[in-house]
Amino acid sequence: MSVLLTGGAGYIGSHTAVEMINAGKEIVIVDNLYNSEAKVIDLIEQITGVRPKFYKEDCCDKKALEKIFSENEIDTVIHFAGYKAVGESVEKPAEYYRNNIDSALCVIEVMKEFGCKSIVFSSSATVYGSDATVPYKEDMPTGGCTNPYGWTKYMIEQILRDQAKADKELSVVLLRYFNPVGAHESGLIGENPKGIPNNLMPYIAQVAAGIRDHLNVFGNDYDTPDGTGVRDFIHVVDLAKGHVLAVDYAKNHKGCEAINLGTGNGYSVLQLMRAFEDVNGIKIPYEFTPRRAGDLGSCYADASKAKELLNWKAGLGINEMCRDSWGYQKNKK
Ligand code: NAD
Ligand code: UDP
Repeated sequence: MSVLLTGGAGYIGSHTAVEMINAGKEIVIVDNLYNSEAKVIDLIEQITGVRPKFYKEDCCDKKALEKIFSENEIDTVIHFAGYKAVGESVEKPAEYYRNNIDSALCVIEVMKEFGCKSIVFSSSATVYGSDATVPYKEDMPTGGCTNPYGWTKYMIEQILRDQAKADKELSVVLLRYFNPVGAHESGLIGENPKGIPNNLMPYIAQVAAGIRDHLNVFGNDYDTPDGTGVRDFIHVVDLAKGHVLAVDYAKNHKGCEAINLGTGNGYSVLQLMRAFEDVNGIKIPYEFTPRRAGDLGSCYADASKAKELLNWKAGLGINEMCRDSWGYQKNKK
């Protein structure tokens, strides 16, 4: 039996592929390489010694998915595939709704056709919307998203919840990620944003590498200890390990569960930047600029449900996150 990783050549998918292989699971990857490269499959092999089976296909192509399901015995899907740039989703909403919703629907329909009964979905803390209070708990209301990307996550959660109501044999785990950062300790795989990074850690890493001259800190007037935004940064390897446990959980469970994957700790923009400076011995020049539209002051998880249901807890701290982000960035030069 194999686990299908859609979007498995991407940032979180490739780290999950490594942890799945390390845990002795058979995996198959499908990715259209829209935001990743084929060489990631070689790197997964280099790290683990096992080459995952790979299909370069689009998940919106049902025929292609049917071929993958007919050639492999897939008992679980981890659905990572999707577009993820918040700002771009505001500019190109139709593309985001089309790709994210359509790929999820195709995966769900083909799973049904082939009797595959468990799915783990890459959701996001963004589904809690702008009215939620920290720490975010899974039973809080969702919605009130501030951009089309967030709405796609909200809508796919709803589709999967309805699907699990209709099919009592189906198991759905909605993993709500907080802020994944860091990279595999080998420095071989990591986050590779195209163009100017939107996210904080890749931006800091590019300043450290001399690609950008300084960090713009978006707002220092939030109601937080130092006035800068607070987030729940989580090491991508911890996140990946959470998926391995979620797959096992999904196999022995029916219905739909939402689970936060975060550390439960919030760090501010300045705290993350200073940790990066201390751990790597590199100065990061910065300037305060006005708040970025749509940003929240504080966002962190109540991580107790993941501990209770998956026996999962983040093991790596902010220093390892900064060390490994730089380790990957350095390797790219
Ligand atoms: P990523 O862009 O690195 O990986 C996504 C992968 O999906 C890419 O390799 C891309 O080529 C592929 N893809 C996109 N559309 C596809 C399609 N139609 N068919 C086949 N492949 C397709 O992103 P990531 O950071 O690894 O995120 C993985 C998932 O986690 C996404 O669904 C994302 O929305 C979600 N997520 C990410 C974060 C984050 O901060 N990185 C936070 C919360 C949720
Ligand atoms: N941020 C910043 N400068 C940047 C990128 C991000 O000050 O160049 C801040 C942003 O305002 C937020 C935090 O860093 O407070 C995390 O932002 P990111 O985009 O990484 O994640 P998200 O906003 O999706 O939680």
